[in-house]
Amino acid sequence: MDWANLGFKYTKTDFRYISVWKDGEWDEGILTEDNRLSISEGSTAIHYGQQCFEGLKAYRTKSGDIQLFRPDENSKRLNDSCDRLLMPQISSDKFIDACKQVIKANERFVPPYGSNASLYLRPFVIGVGDNIGVKAAQEYIFCVFCVPVGAYFKGDISPVNFIVSDYDRAASKGTGSVKVGGNYACSFYPNKLAKDRGFADCIYLDPQTHSKIEEVGAANFYAITKENVFITPKSESILPSITKKSLIYIAQNHLNMKVEERDIFIDELSELKEAGACGTAAVITPIGMIEDEGKQYTFNGGEEAGEITKKLYKILTEIQFGDREAPEGWIFKA
Ligand SMILES: *Cc1c(COP(=O)(O)O)cnc(C)c1O
Repeated sequence: MDWANLGFKYTKTDFRYISVWKDGEWDEGILTEDNRLSISEGSTAIHYGQQCFEGLKAYRTKSGDIQLFRPDENSKRLNDSCDRLLMPQISSDKFIDACKQVIKANERFVPPYGSNASLYLRPFVIGVGDNIGVKAAQEYIFCVFCVPVGAYFKGDISPVNFIVSDYDRAASKGTGSVKVGGNYACSFYPNKLAKDRGFADCIYLDPQTHSKIEEVGAANFYAITKENVFITPKSESILPSITKKSLIYIAQNHLNMKVEERDIFIDELSELKEAGACGTAAVITPIGMIEDEGKQYTFNGGEEAGEITKKLYKILTEIQFGDREAPEGWIFKA
């Protein structure tokens, strides 16, 4: 494997975990080499988008061990998604055990320490079975597969540019706060429009007033003000990022910064010192420039990550790769 140039793309690894929910309970689950699923044409996941997913990473440490970053948080969020779409929950023990089984069975795909790459785990739940009406399925599949990955956006810790989209990603009382497929199918078109114009992805505003920042593609937004306050949007239609939650903790406890979760208006972008996108896949991706209605807002000169962003990235990735002591409960040995 060319560990240094993995990017974020599919690789067929050796094993995936599959568990089936039938007659009111999950079975034990198995590891299988087959990367195809055989499901009924009537599956609710296909017709009505009854499905949700997660994304988390396993990291190889200096000593050669493998560790997971806050998988209990992904387990909780998966259950929130399942609740919202009337799908059965998965216990935290079953979720974490499935992740560990997949890591162990695919150990040769866990990138070496120092490559800056990791093993991305993709758990998902889909509604399956013979069905045609618009209602919840009677059967479900929970699967976890994995792929080795590097940087999500080209450039890693070099800044990339985004453009504000006219389209909405999620309604206020819709499904923006859960990780369900329907939120992403509708993002492909705005994403293509942004890419065609040379941007990495688009930025979504709040659906009601189109004046406040919500999401950066499939990542959360944060910024650093001139007064060195870490700010990030508060809204019921954004996905609660575990990376963002961790950065808030790091900003407060490691960097002694003030943190505000609040409305961030497009109008105030010119007042901000640094901006970035954060998520498991994106890690921290500095934002060089945001374009909105022909106006361009540049951060930290646009060519280099800002000082605070660099510090946040360093502390977060040191914790994830085991080079720095983690706050209590963040690291799970794989
Ligand atoms: C998954 C996701 C994120 C990032 O969440 P993490 O828990 O940090 O990986 C942010 N926004 C959207 C829309 C997402 O789907």
